[in-house]
Amino acid sequence: MVDLKGQYEKIKDQVNTSILNVLDSTAYINGPEVKKFQEELEAYLGVKHVIPCANGTDALQIAMMGLGLKPGDEVITADFTFAATVEVIALLGLTPVLVDVNPDDFNIDIAAIEKAITPNTKAIVPVHLFGQCANMDAVMALAKKHDLFVIEDNAQAIGANYASKSGQQKAGTIGHVASTSFFPSKNLGCYGDGGAIFTNDDALAHTIRGIVNHGMYKRYHHDVVGVNSRLDSVQAAVLRAKLKNLEDYNSARQSAASKYDAAFASVKNVITPVRNGHHVFHQYTLKVKNVDRDALAQFLNDNNIPCGVYYPIPLHSQKAYADSRYNESDFPVTNQLIKEVISLPMHTELDDEQIKFITSKVIEFVTK
Ligand SMILES: *Cc1c(COP(=O)(O)O)cnc(C)c1O
Repeated sequence: MVDLKGQYEKIKDQVNTSILNVLDSTAYINGPEVKKFQEELEAYLGVKHVIPCANGTDALQIAMMGLGLKPGDEVITADFTFAATVEVIALLGLTPVLVDVNPDDFNIDIAAIEKAITPNTKAIVPVHLFGQCANMDAVMALAKKHDLFVIEDNAQAIGANYASKSGQQKAGTIGHVASTSFFPSKNLGCYGDGGAIFTNDDALAHTIRGIVNHGMYKRYHHDVVGVNSRLDSVQAAVLRAKLKNLEDYNSARQSAASKYDAAFASVKNVITPVRNGHHVFHQYTLKVKNVDRDALAQFLNDNNIPCGVYYPIPLHSQKAYADSRYNESDFPVTNQLIKEVISLPMHTELDDEQIKFITSKVIEFVTK
């Protein structure tokens, strides 16, 4: 699905030198590389505060802790996303409220959010799925109307621009706070685990900087219950090298996506991803109609073409997140998408020959 080796080869000298410098420095945790990466990412995103942490799941949890959400508070998020989003809500004793998504861009359905709001609702977590922003103007308007926090799960859309009413903004800088992941296969990935929280709110940033460090604001004074969640200096060094290339990486993904689009343009039972605005293609996800999706996946695998089904089971149907308040009729779109979606290889190193082979095999299967 991804070619991390090919990408590494192109930045190997720079990355190896930076990693060796970190090893020599012995500043393995919270060293200068972490601080520099933080500042460079703040400048790139145009956000006041980036707080690095250990992974994207922690980032979401810490963002919610920073907002002071309390057990019983309801948090609305999408039914069609990676489980991390709902997991941290449940872990904190908050009440997850899953809602349906849009059939075209796979992002959270605004009307469904509005329907789910109760007096206990405290926050909305839009997930910018597969590399494209949720309808943030509408999410922010709803949040304002009902006095709710907005936590953007930006693990899949770093670098995407959102054309909001108030101008162009980077994904993850629009809500009250955002989280991201630097898992190796993400658009900005390191060579291990990593994550970060973004916010423009000075007070919230201060609170969060203490939470990630055992609730300490002064050494050995623990004012709040915190966690231990750090980005290490080796990962920061890798991320500094890759951040310089992020725009190029995202362009390479878009260019591959356009070639896929062109190849499928006249294939009736294959629906290519909708682009509502700027899409950075963390995944290139097709919908197939009147096709046995699982058989297609098997056929691609038999031809040595990796593919993925993100996501095969709606969160509301997962044992861990089942809730008697949910009705199947609340999730018609997610229930349909799980049968139709298939993601093709998407990364920065795809060449024309690979795209031609992949698309020809998909077309061979769906037109036979
Ligand atoms: C990857 C991902 C996460 C979690 O990130 P980790 O770094 O793996 O903890 C959270 N939400 C979404 C939507 C993701 O894709």
